[in-house]
Amino acid sequence: MTPPATPKRPGFPVRLEPDAGTPSATKKVAGRAHPERASGLFDMKIPAKAAVSSGVGLDSRAVRTRMVQKLAAQGISDAQVLAAMGQVERHRFVDTALVNQAYEDTSLPIGLGQTISKPNVVARMLELLRQGVASPSAKLGRVLEIGTGCGYQAAVLGQLASEVYSIERLRGLHDKARENLRALRLANVHLLFGDGMLGYAKGAPYAAIIAAAGGEAIPQAWVEQLAVGGRLVAPMHMAGGAQALVVLDRTAQGVTQTVLEAVHFVPLKSGTS
Ligand code: SAH
Repeated sequence: MTPPATPKRPGFPVRLEPDAGTPSATKKVAGRAHPERASGLFDMKIPAKAAVSSGVGLDSRAVRTRMVQKLAAQGISDAQVLAAMGQVERHRFVDTALVNQAYEDTSLPIGLGQTISKPNVVARMLELLRQGVASPSAKLGRVLEIGTGCGYQAAVLGQLASEVYSIERLRGLHDKARENLRALRLANVHLLFGDGMLGYAKGAPYAAIIAAAGGEAIPQAWVEQLAVGGRLVAPMHMAGGAQALVVLDRTAQGVTQTVLEAVHFVPLKSGTS
C-alpha cells in the first residue's frame, strides 16, 4: 500500500487549554505525571472518505480467519475481540514490503523505530480490557489508547468501544495512522498528537485505558483519568528491567494492580517530536 501524499490537515476541532510550557525534551520520565500540563493535543476526526481498494492481491478475509482461529487456539476466548480482529484489515497498516507477513503472529516495523504489536498481544490486551467491564456483552465506553503507532489497534478498538481517543507522540506516525484510518471511516476513533503520558483530560473519565509503550511506572494522569469501575492495561518495567503486562482496576475503594506475563514493548517517552 502506498498512501498518497498527506494533504494539509484541516482545522483542529478540539484544542486543549494553553499550558505553561510543554517540555520538548524526549528524556524518559518514570512514573511522573503532569496533570497540570495538557496541551499540544489536537483532536483529529477521521474524515469520512471513500475507501480505496488495497490491491494487495491476497484473499485477506481467509487469511484473517486463519489468524483468528490461531488466536482462539492460543487461548483468546472473547468473541467480540475475535470478531473485531477478524474484521480489521491488518495488511492495510503495514508497508507494502511486509504485507505478506501482516497476518503472522509477529510484531512488524512501522517506521521511526516503532513496531505494530503482534496480533496475539493486541488480542490479549483487548480481552483483558473487556474483562474489566461490568457486562462483557456490552461495548466498552470511552477508551484512551497511548501509542497510536500505525493505527491498527485503534481501529480494532473502534469496533469494541463507543469512542476511542488515541494519542501518538511522533508526528510522522500520527500522520501515517490518520492516512491508514481514513479509508475505514471510523467516526468514533479520534487521533490525537501529543504526549500520552499526560493522558487526554478532555475525554476523561475513561472506561478503559490501554498503552502500547512501557515506562517505569504508570503515569498518575492515567490513573486520575480512569473512571471508577474502569480498567487500565499497560506494559511496565519491573525492578530488574524486564517488562510485564500490568492490569490496574479503579474501584470506589481505590486502585488494585495485577502483574501478568512478560512482554516486550517499545519505551514510553515524554514530549513530542
Ligand atoms: N498500537 C500501535 C502500536 C504502536 S508502538 C499499533 O497498533 O501500531 C507504540 C507507540 O507508542 C509508538 O508509536 C510510540 O511512538 C508511542 N509512544 C511512546 N511514548 C508515547 C507517549 N508518551 N505518548 C504517545 N505515544 C507514545
